[in-house]
Amino acid sequence: MAKTALVTGITGQDGSYISELLLDKDYTVYGLVRRMSTSSLIRLNVIKDKIILLEGDLLDQPSLDQAVKISNPDEIYNLAGPSFVASSFKQPVLTGEVGALGGMRLMEASKSHAPHARIFQASSSEMFGGTDIVPQNENTPFHPRTPYGIAKVYAYLAARYYRENYGMFVSNGIMYNHESPRRGSEYVTRKISIGIARIALGLQEYIELGNMDARRDWGFAPEYMDAAWRMLQQKQPDDFLIATGEVHTVREFYEEACKVAGVKDPDKIVKVNIEYMRPADFTNLRGDATKAKQILRWSPKVRFKDLVRIMVEEDLKLAAEESMQKKR
Ligand code: NAP
Repeated sequence: MAKTALVTGITGQDGSYISELLLDKDYTVYGLVRRMSTSSLIRLNVIKDKIILLEGDLLDQPSLDQAVKISNPDEIYNLAGPSFVASSFKQPVLTGEVGALGGMRLMEASKSHAPHARIFQASSSEMFGGTDIVPQNENTPFHPRTPYGIAKVYAYLAARYYRENYGMFVSNGIMYNHESPRRGSEYVTRKISIGIARIALGLQEYIELGNMDARRDWGFAPEYMDAAWRMLQQKQPDDFLIATGEVHTVREFYEEACKVAGVKDPDKIVKVNIEYMRPADFTNLRGDATKAKQILRWSPKVRFKDLVRIMVEEDLKLAAEESMQKKR
């Protein structure tokens, strides 16, 4: 029988990819959306009409109760929340309200109205923060060093609480950075792919970046959502770390993007702006996804250079459209 899923954060990068994956598998997909003064449905462009949108907010318990009651889901993907780590320093309390308590509110709604539902909780490598243990796996102690990471630890523990105390099927996906052409433009990877594409087409002169030596374990978002779906198809709920295990610097991403776009003299078109430096930046986050490989049969296929190419090529198309419009 066709299954039903409720997706929070459906307007975001991951929400749009998991929705496509679920629709392909004939799920009925409900999506939780916040009321906004301008539409945030751009990433759902093609599939918008195939999804049932429900108004709600992770800050608002009644709206979550209603969303769970109406959708009566087999699966819930909790992908909502502030995801830009740098902003969590400026909005630490809101980050906790949504990222930490929001997860708990949703699990509470599920406990009351759909205790059978299987829940995916989007956890993060930022929970390991300042760890000295490299690579990290599911047993590595948490050491969050950002308000975002702290909120994620709370929601992670809440997931385990509902699993262990109420027998609910709640799984944490401890995801490392994952990118795509749908990544928000404030994230460094997308900032680079947009900036380099626009420079290549003469729409921009230079790009401003923060710490170019910062290192990240970057994967491809659709593959991370495939892992999320696999977690909810297991016999038992569990926690899985999802990562590529490969680490690259922002500089490497930048230089590769310049190559893809055919931009010469990368050093001449970049300015380092300390405003984009994080109060705490980590160099040790590299994930070991052995457990996901063994149990979920999941492994990343899109490697670093492919990821950069996919993103820059998409942004070159957007820049070409922009350029055409300017000429009209
Ligand atoms: P994203 O593109 O920023 O999407 C975030 C989504 O959350 C948006 O749909 C946003 O809705 C929604 N949202 C924000 N506050 C909300 C609230 N109060 N109530 C309801 N919805 C709210 O993030 P993403 O990259 O898809 O990430 C998905 C999840 O995975 C997030 O929880 C993130 O922290 C986690 N994660 C992401 C990564 C990564 O590298 N992408 C890594 C580890 C974990 P609006 O459109 O209305 O703003």
